[in-house]
Amino acid sequence: MQTYRNFVSGQWAESASQKTTDNVNPADTDDTLGTVRLSTRDEARAAVESAAEAFRAWRSTPAPARGRIVARAARLMEASKEDLARLLTREEGKTLGEARGELQRAINVAEFCAGESRRMNGETIPSELPSNFAYTLRQPHGVVAVVTPWNFPVAIPVWKLAPALVAGNTVVFKPATNTPATAVRIVEIFEEAGLPAGVLNLILGSGSEAGDEIVGHRAVRAISFTGSNGVGVKLYEQAARRGVRVQCEMGGKNPVVILEDADMELAVESTAQGAFGSTGQRCTATSRAVVVESVADEFVERVAERARSLRLGNGIDAETEVGPIVDASQFKSVLSYMDVAREDGAELVCGGAPAVGAGLGKGYFVKPTVFDRVTPDMRIAREEVFGPVLSVLRVKDFEEALVVANDSEFGLSSSVFTNDAARVFRFVDEIETGMTHVNSPTTGGEAHVPFGGIKSTGVGAFEQGSTALDFYTELKVVYVDYTGRKREGNLY
Ligand code: NDP
Repeated sequence: MQTYRNFVSGQWAESASQKTTDNVNPADTDDTLGTVRLSTRDEARAAVESAAEAFRAWRSTPAPARGRIVARAARLMEASKEDLARLLTREEGKTLGEARGELQRAINVAEFCAGESRRMNGETIPSELPSNFAYTLRQPHGVVAVVTPWNFPVAIPVWKLAPALVAGNTVVFKPATNTPATAVRIVEIFEEAGLPAGVLNLILGSGSEAGDEIVGHRAVRAISFTGSNGVGVKLYEQAARRGVRVQCEMGGKNPVVILEDADMELAVESTAQGAFGSTGQRCTATSRAVVVESVADEFVERVAERARSLRLGNGIDAETEVGPIVDASQFKSVLSYMDVAREDGAELVCGGAPAVGAGLGKGYFVKPTVFDRVTPDMRIAREEVFGPVLSVLRVKDFEEALVVANDSEFGLSSSVFTNDAARVFRFVDEIETGMTHVNSPTTGGEAHVPFGGIKSTGVGAFEQGSTALDFYTELKVVYVDYTGRKREGNLY
């Protein structure tokens, strides 16, 4: 069985650690893909040192030359798209269709960032004084720590690595412990694309040890993190003490608002897609349906019917529509919310239990679940479940829908279903989320469009699109005086 290796200073090497954990297919726990050695703090430190050493040469490599390497990585990803998609399905559980979509997103982001390498422009600013001007430059930070979760183990790393590298930073990448195989493949692709030794380093290991050592290292000048609020806030606090840049994309509790004039077929399909697609394990998954009372019975009946109709199974099977939960601990956590919801008084309409049946016996399958008559104070309406679970909150009208939709500490994504243009634009104005969708699911985004959340979901610049490089560069302001004379007075 394969033991995954770290990549430090351009060399692949197994960690010396005796602590290991297996990489197991969540759809079939008899299928073990490989073993992860949980790297030591010393190994993590060596990776940061390697990145620090490589920085000077990489920062002075022209940006378009850096971009060309990232463009080559995009082409290599494209060439091995099918293999990588299959590996992703086997490792994380999502359906092959979803895995192919994730790969395409990663390719698109890498292509976009490669193009950005030719647009790392500053601005030229006229002065109040004659023969003077100012301009700005965008420069890299130095070593960047990239810490990623398991739910999009290809796309999320690529949408952090590509802009970090194009901007001229060197990187230490710490992926989630339960998705090492895809992480190794991504790094191999960047290596093959021509990155010099030390520019990108991979450390496999636990967040609390290897991860902690990396983010706390004094040479790390910026941290880009996606994952849970608990960890994200801790990293934010630690980084604040050192005055280090931080970008955290954390939890969501994304609402869809369904008004009385909504196209019900479209609203049901889109909500089901948002809630149960990727097994609900997306930060932008729809977890609350805020529905006007007059159409709520019809909505609940139809969305539950759709949930019951979904075919669960191993994602590699072309018939499968919903794959498993990623691992035993997430499986337990998602199922625990079924009891929490019932105890709080929510009405279980469908699902609410592990899925059993042919082909499901060896995986972490949960039935797509709908709870009705959820109220905003219930835990199921407030906490991120990260599974195929939809809560329906009934409201009397649009005004109440806005209040309920905004009654969350999170602010990642949302959507509204109505054909009333005035209410669409009021919703867009007043909804407290970083991204919103009109008559489409809360999920899905494009590589050239900014991505991020507000409130306690997000800290730091949005990722991707026109904002992709914002986090990975810092501004330098330059004043130029070509009068050749001593300045009279001061500038205000
Ligand atoms: P975590 O936040 O625990 O982990 C995310 C990444 O951070 C992993 O690589 C993890 O390593 C690492 N990490 C953990 N602790 C530290 C630390 N002290 N210092 C540095 N790095 C650290 O998320 P999980 O993947 O465990 O998922 C748990 C919950 O997070 C989910 O149930 C969901 O609610 C939420 N989540 C949200 C996502 C989003 O996109 N909004 C994405 C994924 C999860 P390791 O894997 O070794 O623990």
